Order: sequence, then C-alpha cells, then structure tokens
Amino acid sequence: MRLILMGPPGAGKGTQAQVVADHFGIPAISTGDIFRANVSQGSELGVEAQRFMDAGEYVPDEITNRMVRNRIDEKDAEPGFLLDGYPRTLAQVEELDGMIKFTGHALDAAVVLTVDPEELVARLLQRAESSGRSDDTEEVIRRRQEVYTEQTEPLIGVYRDRGILVEVDGMGTVDEVTKRIFEALDVIPES
Ligand code: ADP
Repeated sequence: MRLILMGPPGAGKGTQAQVVADHFGIPAISTGDIFRANVSQGSELGVEAQRFMDAGEYVPDEITNRMVRNRIDEKDAEPGFLLDGYPRTLAQVEELDGMIKFTGHALDAAVVLTVDPEELVARLLQRAESSGRSDDTEEVIRRRQEVYTEQTEPLIGVYRDRGILVEVDGMGTVDEVTKRIFEALDVIPES
C-alpha cells in the first residue's frame, strides 16, 4: 500500500497518518517530523532546513527529495508507506513518481483532508501553546497557509485527473475523521 496524505497545515495530517499507517502495517513518513528531528540534532540537513521552516517557507525541493528518497529506500518501507507532507510541489510529484516507478509499484491513493480556513488557524494557535514549534506563531501560520494554497493545492487536481484522489472532510473529532478515511479507502474497521 502506497499512500499520500495531503491537506493544509492544521488539517490533522500527522494524527491521522499514524492511525492509517498502523492499520496497513506500513511506516508513516512525515517530512516535517524528519526535518524537526534533524533540526534538534543539529545535523547539516537540520541547519539547512531550519531557516526555511522558521519562515513558513518550503525547504528546497532538492533537499527534500533527497531526504525522502533515502527514507523510502529503507527496509521497512518495502511493503509500502504513507507519506505525510510530501509531495507538496509539482516538482516533488514528479520526483515521487520516479521513485515509485523504480520499485515497480504504483501510488494507490492520495487522501486530502479538507478543513475550513478559520478552523485551521484556530487549531494551529491552540497547538502553538503546547507544541513549542517555532513555526506556530500567527504570522508564520498565515504564511504556511499561503504557501500551501500557492504551491500544494494545485496537486489536488493532478491526483484527481489520475483518478486516485480521495477527498475526506477533516472537520470533527479525530475518530470521526479516521472513520471517514477508512470508509473512503474501503477499509473494514477492526472490532
Ligand atoms: P504543517 O503541515 O503544519 O505546515 P509539517 O510538520 O508537515 O507542518 O511541516 C513543517 C515544515 O517543514 C514546513 O512548513 C516546511 O518548511 C517543511 N516541509 C515539510 N514537508 C515539506 C516538503 N514536502 N517540501 C518542502 N518543505 C517541507
């Protein structure tokens, strides 16, 4: 199973990614989490990425693509993976196509979570109080949303045209949203 999970900042991608990936027994690969881990380790990648992240901008494709390629090459991703936060640009879509083609597989679905813009800001500001993330300030949150609209929203049309887009209403409780994702993917819930 090879899935991508898309949606604007605050849509709940990280939370849902873990549940869905666990269900399929595949790793949830979050580019944001990998970048943050590198920032806290002070690695070369972290140093490069930090200034973009703190400004709410995307890390350059070349850096991001290389990182995802390395992660996907790991053994646990052989049976499949769920990508959370990648691809976010058209160039990343192409790059991912190449990576998956190389393995002889195909992307099964692109799930996009939709949430009202005002609800997104409210969720992120609430998260800001506990996350300690340096990019969870109101100004940077607004910039992240603009960047999403400009650079990532067009990807929805790309996957719709390929017939693998799965749109899911991301409003409501975590459990409600999980249930909708599984229904949309035709998964029979356990228990
Ligand atoms: P959010 O979706 O809430 O913005 P993430 O944790 O997914 O948060 O990402 C945090 C930051 O990491 C982004 O604002 C961006 O700077 C960087 N990032 C994550 N994924 C990508 C990507 N695919 N391409 C470029 N930059 C990325």
